[in-house]
Amino acid sequence: MPRHPRLSRRRLIAAASVGAATAVAVTLTATAGASDTKDQARRAIQGGKAKNVILLIGDGMGDSEITLARDYTVGANGRLNMDKFPLTGAYTTYAVHADGTPDYVTDSAASGSGWATGVKTVNGRISKTPGSDKAVPTILELAQKKGYATGSVTTAELTDATPAVLASHATDRSCQGPADMAKCPTDTIAKGGPGSIAEQSVNHKVDVLLGGGKQRFDQKVTDGKYKGLTVTEQAKKLGYQVVTNDRELKKVKSVKGGKPVLGLFAPGNVPVEWTGKAAAKGGTDPQRCTTSNPGRPAGTPELKDQATKAIKLLEAKQKHAKSKQGFFLQIEGASIDKQDHAADPCGQIGETAAFDRAVKVARDYAAKHPDTLVVTTADHAHTSQIVPLEAQPPGLSSTLVTDEGQQLKVNYSTNTPGKSQEHTGTQVRIAAQGPQAYRVQGVTNQTDLFHTVREALRLR
Ligand code: MG
Ligand code: ZN
Repeated sequence: MPRHPRLSRRRLIAAASVGAATAVAVTLTATAGASDTKDQARRAIQGGKAKNVILLIGDGMGDSEITLARDYTVGANGRLNMDKFPLTGAYTTYAVHADGTPDYVTDSAASGSGWATGVKTVNGRISKTPGSDKAVPTILELAQKKGYATGSVTTAELTDATPAVLASHATDRSCQGPADMAKCPTDTIAKGGPGSIAEQSVNHKVDVLLGGGKQRFDQKVTDGKYKGLTVTEQAKKLGYQVVTNDRELKKVKSVKGGKPVLGLFAPGNVPVEWTGKAAAKGGTDPQRCTTSNPGRPAGTPELKDQATKAIKLLEAKQKHAKSKQGFFLQIEGASIDKQDHAADPCGQIGETAAFDRAVKVARDYAAKHPDTLVVTTADHAHTSQIVPLEAQPPGLSSTLVTDEGQQLKVNYSTNTPGKSQEHTGTQVRIAAQGPQAYRVQGVTNQTDLFHTVREALRLR
């Protein structure tokens, strides 16, 4: 029996040769009998134009972080939503030094700049070149120019590196609000630059911006047209509807004039969903995670609800504009990384699970809109490792009792206990479905993702 009964060999070869940024072998990852998956795979390798792109980024979500969340929540032989994509590959994430030589461990700014612009840069930089510090056009800017609606959803501050790479250019990622410009002397409005990341984000009139970081937008603009206003007030002048909780987010409608929406749901990062004991030197007693967080105010929207609303708003915007183009939306699960830095396994798993529910929102949408390219990946790998129960690692560790009732030991040893645990330089998973999804297969480079999205949306 032929392996691809509904796909001619010629079509397979044609799909594989449509200007792939990296030569990849086109193979189906469907398991025997999984006709749904096979059907998705057939569609996924056809190439062609995507109407919409949904890019999901798990910050710091390496294979260890995925496996840990899978083991704890759905079991070792279970499957997360992010495990269900028909096409899967790996990509390298390294940054570069100012002279272009590789810097093997990336941060979120350099890695995000990689897929946002197709150009690798130095750690800490936002969508600018490594040596000359010049702005490089981003995928969101290109999509906007072509009439796509655009959006960015995150559990971090909206001015944090991963969302920042889409609609701003900054010498350093720390330049988040008008009062934070110390490391970006040439980016200030006084020096003729574009201003802080917060100011640039709203000046770009990204249609939907949902996340944390209200404190950055509450800072006062220091120069130029909006001097003396807060960035939030500047946003309102630019037409934004501003919402700060779940109830307001539910009520907001973009149809009235296609107005953009700015949602600021926390002063800083959005508080995490789960809590538990942090990993400790010598380990912890076996623990179950608490699937709630008393520090998370009522009315804080879940990532999946933000994602659902963002898709609705972007669709409504295009309908209002009578546009035939679709949308580009990035959705970030930011605190997988932040809890990994803090060696907090329950916080980390809860954020991975919350991210995975947002993946389901995207896949459910794509099931009804197969002209949507959905990509789920990470920006870099991280610390956590699953180790044998009898291991006595010198760093921090914790023993968890999984939903399967088994003990699992997780170790954090990329830095001295007491210091922030570190990113790692290993390749990470990239999985996709929909038009051009075949391009994620094999081993690619993070910058290839820029070309995949660009090709899918036909942005030149
Ligand atoms: Mg991030
Ligand atoms: Zn990090």
